[in-house]
Amino acid sequence: MTEPSPIKSLKALRAAEEECTRCPLYKHATQVVSGEGPARAGLMLVGEQPGDQEDKQGRPFVGPAGGILAKALVDAGIERKAVFVTNAVKHFKFEPRGKRRLHKRPNAYEIDRCHWWLDFERKLVRPDIVVALGATAIRSVSGRPLPINKIRGRVLPISDGGQMVATIHPSYILRIDDEADKQTQYRQFVADLKICAKILTKAA
Ligand code: SF4
Repeated sequence: MTEPSPIKSLKALRAAEEECTRCPLYKHATQVVSGEGPARAGLMLVGEQPGDQEDKQGRPFVGPAGGILAKALVDAGIERKAVFVTNAVKHFKFEPRGKRRLHKRPNAYEIDRCHWWLDFERKLVRPDIVVALGATAIRSVSGRPLPINKIRGRVLPISDGGQMVATIHPSYILRIDDEADKQTQYRQFVADLKICAKILTKAA
């Protein structure tokens, strides 16, 4: 039998996350960036960690990668407002470089420590499908490192009885210089999201 969650609402979850010291990342970030969206959502999107803009604004996917994600959701026929968006790691990890803060990928320890919060989000929001955006999210959602090129676009079962679709993180598309490659990756990203749209339609 599943243990009842001691955290009963997204508001209470956010308050608890604000106090989190489970790993060292809280020390240098501006603030925690909690998940955002409806209290019950069919689709949950899990990214890696907040970026520079997200850290400043305290909201997930409001930076350049969030712009690509918003466009891709429209192209996949998914309403952004109906989706719960969050990150595997809730504090921004970076390396100061002059006035800039360069993104640093979270390590396995940080991902595993922050998984605690993702579990609460999944228990509260009860999504029909979780989309893991990139390697960090795949590790957190599935509980183990899995090669993205082997599982991309496939619907896989996860431990809480739900389903996961793995795809790239939208920031990957931003980093591609070649325009044709960029378009190809974008189209594939939309195709991965369309798989979720189909599952949601069937579940409705
Ligand atoms: S990154 Fe996650 S586990 Fe680490 S301090 Fe922040 S909320 Fe806690």
